[in-house]
Amino acid sequence: MDIEDLKTRILAGERRALARAITLVESGRADHRAQALSLLEALKGHGREALRVGLSGTPGVGKSTFIEAFGMMLTAQGLKVAVLAVDPSSARSGGSILGDKTRMERLSRERNAFIRPSPSQSQLGGVARRTREAIDLCEAAGFDVVLIETVGVGQSETMVAEMSDLFLLLLAPAGGDELQGVKRGIMEMADILLVNKADGALKSTAVRTCADYAGALRLLRKRPQDPEGFPKAMTVSALEDSGLVTAWEEMQSLADWRRETGHFAGRRAEQARFWFEAEVRERLLARLKREPVKGAMEALARDVEAGGLTPSAAAEELLRDYLQMG
Ligand code: GDP
Repeated sequence: MDIEDLKTRILAGERRALARAITLVESGRADHRAQALSLLEALKGHGREALRVGLSGTPGVGKSTFIEAFGMMLTAQGLKVAVLAVDPSSARSGGSILGDKTRMERLSRERNAFIRPSPSQSQLGGVARRTREAIDLCEAAGFDVVLIETVGVGQSETMVAEMSDLFLLLLAPAGGDELQGVKRGIMEMADILLVNKADGALKSTAVRTCADYAGALRLLRKRPQDPEGFPKAMTVSALEDSGLVTAWEEMQSLADWRRETGHFAGRRAEQARFWFEAEVRERLLARLKREPVKGAMEALARDVEAGGLTPSAAAEELLRDYLQMG
């Protein structure tokens, strides 16, 4: 594959080249991996900056409806929008709930939109790397907004928050009891809580739910990366297209404030460090599972079981002799 040509076409914003490059970063083949790395390396320093927006919510809350309506609003403003998905179920089962082609049909036909379903990969770590690299590629291709969608289940939310400039949590109108179902840790990650389905018979419940969440947000510790009034809760209706313009204005005002105060760049720098460390950890773990380290570990474990070696001595031997560390 001609990496230089691919690079030129990505920088020109060609969607087919972008799709091809994402396929390359998703591949597990060693030669593809090497090409992907040289492509990413070659694209560095393109000077473009997308707003990376993470979005999470439980199934049925309206994520695809919201992304489609929100994406259509952005493209109508002349902005280029990319949508990527991180689907933890695909990491486990190989099947994808976010990958379904019928989702976001209108948006997928937009010239200024690019939608990429979640890859099926065996490990969440692999999905994280692929998604980070896909974000970089979309940014290089000149997308203004990159939406990264995930289903609300623990680990994948943290992962998406760690690759976003802003993190949105989409919620359903609910009674007071259900409010407590949102884990504190997830609330703490969010910059904007969007209570969706504020329309028809659900509207008054949505308004009440929103007030409850706003109250809960005020109890959280103040974060240095937030201006006055953030994180905040708002109501929207993805179905009726209401509240979306206001939500976008709030996102922009938060992003602008963070850019002016250095928190935007600061957060990206912290994220780069986070992913570097995560990748080192992951690679070390992978080595432990490969021969000859795996076999040596098993032999040492048996020695420890039999009382021939202390756990610490065995660990030391493994690190020194098999991993050449220390
Ligand atoms: P996802 O699983 O989070 O992607 O949710 P979907 O976007 O597939 O929506 C789940 C259901 O909620 C669908 O039947 C949508 O039509 C409905 N829905 C989504 N947004 C709204 C909304 O703003 N108002 C109402 N009343 N229903 C909505």
